[in-house]
Amino acid sequence: MTKFVIDAGHGGVDSGATSSGVNEKDITLMISKYMYDKLKEKGYPVVLTRTDDETLNPTDRVNRILSAYGNDPEVIVISNHINSSGTPTSTGAEVIYALRNESTLAQNILDALGNAGLTKRSVYQRRLPSNPNQDYYFIHRNTGQTEPLIIEYGFINNPSDLSKIQRNYKRYVDAVVNAIDRTILNSDMPNNFPTEIPENIPIMDDSEAGIYIVKKGDSLYKIANMYNTSVIELKLMNNLLTDNISIGQMLKVPSNNETDIYTVKKGDSLYKIANMYNVSVDELKKLNNLTSNLISIGQNIKIPSVINNTIMHIVKKGDTLYKIANIYGTTVSKIKADNNLLSDMLSIGQELIIM
Ligand SMILES: [Zn+2]
Repeated sequence: MTKFVIDAGHGGVDSGATSSGVNEKDITLMISKYMYDKLKEKGYPVVLTRTDDETLNPTDRVNRILSAYGNDPEVIVISNHINSSGTPTSTGAEVIYALRNESTLAQNILDALGNAGLTKRSVYQRRLPSNPNQDYYFIHRNTGQTEPLIIEYGFINNPSDLSKIQRNYKRYVDAVVNAIDRTILNSDMPNNFPTEIPENIPIMDDSEAGIYIVKKGDSLYKIANMYNTSVIELKLMNNLLTDNISIGQMLKVPSNNETDIYTVKKGDSLYKIANMYNVSVDELKKLNNLTSNLISIGQNIKIPSVINNTIMHIVKKGDTLYKIANIYGTTVSKIKADNNLLSDMLSIGQELIIM
């Protein structure tokens, strides 16, 4: 029998992503509590990792997950999150599944979210750059044989996404729960593929599209290259009759699942941009086929999609690296490395990424 652990992302001192006074941790708790009720209604055994504004370090979270129903492949873990990105135009839902699992459940959930009105970005797995055999996220990596999924419902820093989630979160959760329920029932009857689950939607579908705003010096050819598509496809997507585009024009582009676009500003360096997005300079160079560190103002740089599953700790009075490392079950040297800190000095209000 399938059992569920519902994980409200972040909590307590870890707010998750924030935007205009809204904290990710509060939305994920609201979503998770409702999801818990719906699964219970359907008769599934279900527990929550947290029921209030509690700080959970990764170890505590994993312990709660594994102790709920044991280390069992019939335990489905849903970790609810709201994304955030460097660009306010990023939009839509993503489902991330573990290297040990198939994509079926993740895809069915994303399709259901799409039918419920959210933009579909993608389902994917993410690997640790330092060890590609391992999952990037601890919720996948450290949860034994369970089937964990991270659901990102939309982007907190995209006002349209945020307002949709705040207004319609019950509809989206209902969609997720129904998709899971259907998938479980269906897995007992492998020859009876449900007709309600849509086939993969072709890339030209609007729900798969992102928006790109034309900048000075852009051409359709340049934009097509940026999104690994063709000029013809861009023209079809946007009903363009000619190759002419104008600055400020909004173009539909194929949803660029793994990347966002950053436009270089005065004073930027690759090093600065890499820091801003918590990636390495080498990663940026590889992603953009750059052979040198030179970049120019206005240049569009691809950025690996920022998925807010890391913890942002804001330094408070009395904090030390040692104390913070203890809170999150990590080490001083790891925090220093992840944040490029040269000394142990911290200042109040400083933001530290905990990975
Ligand atoms: Zn998150």
